[in-house]
Amino acid sequence: MAESIFTKIIKREIPADIVFEDDDIIAINDINPQAPVHILIIPKKEIATLNDLNENDANLIGKIILVAKNLANQKGIAEDGYRLLVNCNKNAGQTVFHIHFHLLGGRVFGWPPG
Ligand code: 5GP
Repeated sequence: MAESIFTKIIKREIPADIVFEDDDIIAINDINPQAPVHILIIPKKEIATLNDLNENDANLIGKIILVAKNLANQKGIAEDGYRLLVNCNKNAGQTVFHIHFHLLGGRVFGWPPG
């Protein structure tokens, strides 16, 4: 499989605005933000979609959610609220096939989503 755009960012082959990084995870500002805060939290392991997760990824996914919580606090959106979401495949509009969690905040979101 070809390297994803996010793997290129992880390898510093293309630039990004990195807001968090450790051995397993990177978080970057979205290039086309849909809210005042729009951060992508990405495992360094290339997993194409949620459908490709297995039991061994449980700890990694838990860590991603904790990173999201911490970033929400840092960005000052925790109290008012925020949305954490993953798009899976075409009906959800997934465009990059390397799992990423969208952390969105700084405005009110509708429910149900469009
Ligand atoms: P998806 O639709 O797959 O859930 O979301 C992909 C997200 O990645 C989109 O919000 C899009 O704006 C973002 N994105 C795509 N390419 C790049 C890039 O090169 N850099 C950054 N920072 N974000 C990107």
